[in-house]
Amino acid sequence: MNKINWNFSNTYFNLSESFRENIKPVPVKKPELVLFNSKLASSLNLDFSKISNKELSNIFSGNLLPEGSNSIAQAYAGHQFGHFTMLGDGRAVLIGEHVSKSNKRYDIQFKGSGKTAFSRNGDGRAALGPMLREYIISEAMNSLKIPTTRSLAVVKTGEDVIRENILQGAVLTRVASSHIRVGTFQYISARKNINELKTLFDYTVDRHFPKIKDSKNPAIELLNSLIEKQCDLVINWMRVGFIHGVMNTDNMTISGETIDYGPCAFMDTYDPKTVFSSIDQMGRYAYCNQPIITKWNLARFAECLIPLIDNDQNKAIQIATEKIDSFEKKYEEKWISMMKEKLGLFGFENQDKFLILDLLTWMHEKKGDYTNTFCHLMKLEPEKDKIFKDKNFLNWKTRWKKRLLKNNNSFENSLKLMRDNNPLVIPRNHKVEEVLEAAEQNDLRPINKILEILDKPYSKHKDIINYQTPSMTKEKYRTFCGT
Ligand code: AMP
Ligand code: MG
Repeated sequence: MNKINWNFSNTYFNLSESFRENIKPVPVKKPELVLFNSKLASSLNLDFSKISNKELSNIFSGNLLPEGSNSIAQAYAGHQFGHFTMLGDGRAVLIGEHVSKSNKRYDIQFKGSGKTAFSRNGDGRAALGPMLREYIISEAMNSLKIPTTRSLAVVKTGEDVIRENILQGAVLTRVASSHIRVGTFQYISARKNINELKTLFDYTVDRHFPKIKDSKNPAIELLNSLIEKQCDLVINWMRVGFIHGVMNTDNMTISGETIDYGPCAFMDTYDPKTVFSSIDQMGRYAYCNQPIITKWNLARFAECLIPLIDNDQNKAIQIATEKIDSFEKKYEEKWISMMKEKLGLFGFENQDKFLILDLLTWMHEKKGDYTNTFCHLMKLEPEKDKIFKDKNFLNWKTRWKKRLLKNNNSFENSLKLMRDNNPLVIPRNHKVEEVLEAAEQNDLRPINKILEILDKPYSKHKDIINYQTPSMTKEKYRTFCGT
């Protein structure tokens, strides 16, 4: 398999044994390639051009491990809906770290690859629908310019997986700048072994934040860096109406990439309390709660770092608390800047915040579509909607136009700012379901088409209109965890 140019250098494998279980993917019966991301492969400097589909199926099912891989299941813990639990890769293996020509390091992970020491009562497998869904949404997020893990391939296993129904099994190849999670720190921290904690800390700093290595207090700097990264990430989610759905601490990366596309979905009608996940009955992970949950998760991360911040525990707690408490102000400032970009506003006016909030209040009251309202403001709405003739909206628009005049910048630049920040198309829930159903029946045209459409969410292109209109059904969309 040399012709592919795999370049493995497995540093996580070299950490102490407590970080992992050495385990190979469990071979599957009849692998069959469904999706392959050749653009992503090229950007990793991998060359599959001389590889047959059969061989690709064998590689991306885990039946044929590349030379230089060293597969492991990673140990981690996490707060799931607020409750602390031991977790770990129960249905995934990291086959290794591939280093690209530009010296960037990528985890290559198979999801749905069979049982591990962390499987608990699970079967270690994944179903085709959810793996294709992760592929679609993660790639859409990347095109939306939001940090995320990527999807390289999906292969059907030829085996059934038993959920509520019998489903087709599949393996997804996930590419990430690492799989170190807040939950990884929680797991090591709970073991109360300071050397292990230092090992993880040093490893993480080397891999993701080398610049802070020589700072006066690298532990405080790591906390600062993660606060910054995660604040930026959640702002991006809010910008496009993305609802992660399961923001447990094991699903929060230290790299700042979005991870774990289980019950996630995009909001259509603007309602801050929107929840799609069937198990989130209290709305813990509702759209509007995402920033506060980010802060909560960051506080769990800060707790792990206490022994590294200062030998005096009280002092360390005080420092960490101050950092965590700075989150709200930081978030508010960044959120206002982001919303101003969505509205094409430059400079600062006292009334800006109210202008933003009044639009959102109107959208909520009138059940406006979040994405298409901004499309309307850019004069790029998919179809004329009478909602925009509403008197209150027109009054708001007059205020907005007056504010645009204070931009001290050209109208073209203002429009460009809006177009860089407001997607014309998002993975709409009914469309995603439609293409998944077809793919499950072996018709891959619709999924390939939606992938093509979602590849360029900020520009108007052929056929996009079919993907812009909200669902006509009023039935509430439901998503599921651990599927
Ligand atoms: P998730 O909801 O995907 O974040 O998964 C939470 C935990 O459950 C992780 O430790 C997963 O590895 C584990 N898990 C989810 N599905 C399965 C499965 N089918 N078999 C074994 N473990 C699983
Ligand atoms: Mg997870």
